[in-house]
Amino acid sequence: MSAQSRHVALPLKYRPMTFADVVGQEPVVRTLRHAIEAGRVANAYLFVGPRGIGKTTLSRIFAKALNCMSPNGSEPCGECANCREIATGRSLDVVELDAASHNKVEDVKPIIESVQFRPTSSRYKIFIVDECHMLSNAAWNAMLKTLEEPPPHVRFVFATTEGDKVLATIVSRCQRFDLRRIQTHDIVARLRHVCVQEGIDAEEDALLAIARGAEGGMRDALSSLDQLVAFRGDKVTEADALGVFGLVSRSALEGLAGAILRGDVASILQSIEMFESAGKNMRRLSGELLQHFRNLVVLQALGPSSPSLAATPDQIRALSEQAKGVDPNRVFRVCDQLVEMEDKLRYVLSARTLIEMSLIRASRIAATATIEELMRVVRDMKSGRKVAAPPAPAPATPVPKVSPEPPAVSIAELSAPASARSPEPAPAPKVAAVPKPAPASAAPEPPIPPPADAADILNDPKFNDILGSFPGATVVNIR
Ligand SMILES: [Zn+2]
Repeated sequence: MSAQSRHVALPLKYRPMTFADVVGQEPVVRTLRHAIEAGRVANAYLFVGPRGIGKTTLSRIFAKALNCMSPNGSEPCGECANCREIATGRSLDVVELDAASHNKVEDVKPIIESVQFRPTSSRYKIFIVDECHMLSNAAWNAMLKTLEEPPPHVRFVFATTEGDKVLATIVSRCQRFDLRRIQTHDIVARLRHVCVQEGIDAEEDALLAIARGAEGGMRDALSSLDQLVAFRGDKVTEADALGVFGLVSRSALEGLAGAILRGDVASILQSIEMFESAGKNMRRLSGELLQHFRNLVVLQALGPSSPSLAATPDQIRALSEQAKGVDPNRVFRVCDQLVEMEDKLRYVLSARTLIEMSLIRASRIAATATIEELMRVVRDMKSGRKVAAPPAPAPATPVPKVSPEPPAVSIAELSAPASARSPEPAPAPKVAAVPKPAPASAAPEPPIPPPADAADILNDPKFNDILGSFPGATVVNIR
């Protein structure tokens, strides 16, 4: 189907018609279905959540399920007269009130008066009040009595974006459900389904960009897809979608994250310069970068198949690649720095400068060895295990036996400070030589005592020499 012959807007056409169609609100849907199946439907429901995530849609499906003449379990059939009338907003027994524009006592009076009449052709008379937080206090008060003791054939469904503004006396008479923002990968999956149905040829990353731009709202995502198709025809590219939202491409975002992890300051500054001159939304960039690192933390802790990972399969592949060989503690510390940046961004005029400075700091944190890491390396060296990191000027080769000619900073010396230990006979384990072969010395090696604990190593005057031999090993205070 081409863009020209499609007349129905995508958000309307792909509006969920049954509970099974609803994306990303499983807990709420499960509870509502259960209430219908068990015949324990409350008098009033309150749906709270950001715009475009399906509050009104869910209200209508619920109304259909209650009044359907031949329901399939808890699902409305979608075919009977009642279902069709509700779907098109023509049902006499399902009254919708938009409180954003009708918030006065006069507006709710017809509702209150009609409550006493039985439904014409259905089981229930259902009142759906959208943006109910806009109702005036007088309007609420007029409704309170009815809400307290509604006739058995009456049900209320309130929907609002601002649950905190609804009077406590009202909330306490409703079953409240908080609907959540829809996960990006759920939106991508739905968009892909729509594209297949509509014959739209969209790049996977274009769908991701649309979903990212919609920030958890399915309606916004479908509207954006609609706009892009109207603008570009049936071929949707990532570049088009990014342009609409001022977003940075997935690969550029992953590249920037990589530069931070490598401590590559030049790359970071170049990327930010590029994003700024391309008119990208810097505050969104900050949020998405944080999301990326949050995903890295989740991936390292729970693995790539964790449901907590808010990412598409392509993103998960890239994340897995990036997570390889990076210490989770470092990723976590970068995350910490980015959270701080997010917080400060609210108060600054120049987002760019703050982002530059914060990312440079994050990259330093990412590239700096911690005491714990150094200690681990030193302990490994002492126990004779091969030390994998950090890279050394010369490859470390195991010494076949303890040589009478010690290296410049020998493990034996490190673990045997002259002040603390008296030489005592001990079996000499094989040790890995520290890089930098040493000038020969004639002094005989003292016997190697058992491995020391962390305190011994820290107290050792030679410890700082070891630290100095690490490339890039600046010791910083970790918050
Ligand atoms: Zn039906």
